[in-house]
Amino acid sequence: MESRVMLSLFTLLLLLSPRNSQSELQSPPTVCIIGGGIGGSSVAHFLRFYSDSETRIHVFERRGVVGGRMATVTIAGETFEAGASILHPKNYHALNFTTGLGLKIRKPPASESSLSLGIWDGKRFLLKTISVDSKIPFVQKIVSFANSVYLLVRYGFSLLKMESFVEGMVDKFLKYYESTESRPVFETVEGMLKWAGLYNLTTQPLREQLVDAGLNPLLIEELVTVITRINYGQSVFISGLAGAVSLAGSGGNLWSVEGGNWQMAAALINSSNVELHLHEEIEFVSHLEDYYELNSTKGNSYACQVAVIATPLDESEIQFSPPISIPERKLQHTHATFVRGLLNPAYFGLNGVSEIPELVGTIEDPDIPFSSISVLKQHDKNDVTYKIFSRQPMADALLDTIFSERKETIQINWGAYPHYKAPEVFAPFVLDGQHLYYVNAFENAASTMETSAVAGENIARLILSRLYGKQYLSSSTSSFPNSKEQLHSDL
Ligand SMILES: Cc1cc2nc3c(=O)[nH]c(=O)nc-3n(C[C@H](O)[C@H](O)[C@H](O)COP(=O)(O)OP(=O)(O)OC[C@H]3O[C@@H](n4cnc5c(N)ncnc54)[C@H](O)[C@@H]3O)c2cc1C
Repeated sequence: MESRVMLSLFTLLLLLSPRNSQSELQSPPTVCIIGGGIGGSSVAHFLRFYSDSETRIHVFERRGVVGGRMATVTIAGETFEAGASILHPKNYHALNFTTGLGLKIRKPPASESSLSLGIWDGKRFLLKTISVDSKIPFVQKIVSFANSVYLLVRYGFSLLKMESFVEGMVDKFLKYYESTESRPVFETVEGMLKWAGLYNLTTQPLREQLVDAGLNPLLIEELVTVITRINYGQSVFISGLAGAVSLAGSGGNLWSVEGGNWQMAAALINSSNVELHLHEEIEFVSHLEDYYELNSTKGNSYACQVAVIATPLDESEIQFSPPISIPERKLQHTHATFVRGLLNPAYFGLNGVSEIPELVGTIEDPDIPFSSISVLKQHDKNDVTYKIFSRQPMADALLDTIFSERKETIQINWGAYPHYKAPEVFAPFVLDGQHLYYVNAFENAASTMETSAVAGENIARLILSRLYGKQYLSSSTSSFPNSKEQLHSDL
């Protein structure tokens, strides 16, 4: 009799205790991740990496393949990166994913990494570096040296100042790979950026910061403009951190994943014991007492203690109940046009195709209809695959003036990255103060595969620390290294 009274008292206490209290979750929670890009797949990977718990993880992907903005395009039988294409040698998470998951690093051949560059102002080339059709490394080195001297003469020591501006940013970013013993879990994007010393870069436009760093206006109006237009489809008025990241993406030793960067997401998901729901778009996320109900276009509903949004919400149709409120942000659309054919030298006022630089960058002028045109592959003298980036779609009539021949053309309209505007205002990582998380809040800092992975890692740690307290980090069953010293740095 006494024990029965004790039992019902205990039951009563259980019923009266707050049901949403994080440390009291009786069974491992279900985490539902919306989006199978590098952000969502990194959250799944790091949840497993940092916790031995039996957490059930669902990943929902509306398309038939994971990877999101890491995707390939096949044109005339050959496959190329259609979205995110290059990785920096210090993108340590991406390097770890690639080497740790049995993927192969693709380093561009010397001929590819020393593409001749031309800066086009709509009427003429303001600058043209030289290129020689030689596979001999010694010759390539001399050409590269000659081009460096040429750029140094044109832009002076501003080039070195630009390099040191970028290196300063990269050094600070490396703090995100420090051991978790000394690296906090961040509740806000601002806090995360301030801790690494990167926040101030987001408060001013790139142009202002480069002027402060002593760069001359010619370098900013030409080379820097070319780079920000290629990497973010925007001008030098983008915020400073995104600008510095885009400049870092124009350096040497860049790499990609052999066969397609999207495989990082696929491999992370495959190795993380995840229930993957392809072709399943989440339409509604409703907070019901102590769980989230996710409803998909397939008519299915899922109960999850934790919900993670791993896609930009700016153009998303996901509806939230109760509604959430985040700062307004526009996405910059980039039209990627792939053409197999041959450029028309007359369009550039030149006599032969061989005179056209392999990478044509452009300055800021609304009359120039594209941001860049680059050679992806030279099949033979008269047969080349090109990639064009533009802010507006490339009309057929326009393409017919730029190309003398087009065998195949494919156009992709990407809601590519945020339209950067300093001072940046950030959405919260935790959208409702409970367990609704937003990885892509970090994209206002910079949008890259690596920044998504870094944000994904923080979200995974945030989820675990809010569910279980700070001690969660004790064990990891993964064989992945987690400190910068253990990471590959051989690129
Ligand atoms: C043209 C282009 C060039 C780029 N170049 C580079 C580069 O060279 N280097 C670099 O590092 N970065 C580059 N980037 C940026 C990089 O691609 C992104 O920063 C990164 O891939 C973002 O990953 P993510 O997982 O956060 O988002 P995404 O890749 O967008 O993934 C989100 C996923 O969520 C899915 N989804 C959306 N809504 C729903 C829903 N309701 N239900 C289910 N699924 C949903 C989407 O289908 C998508 O697969 C480039 C981007 C573009 C567009």
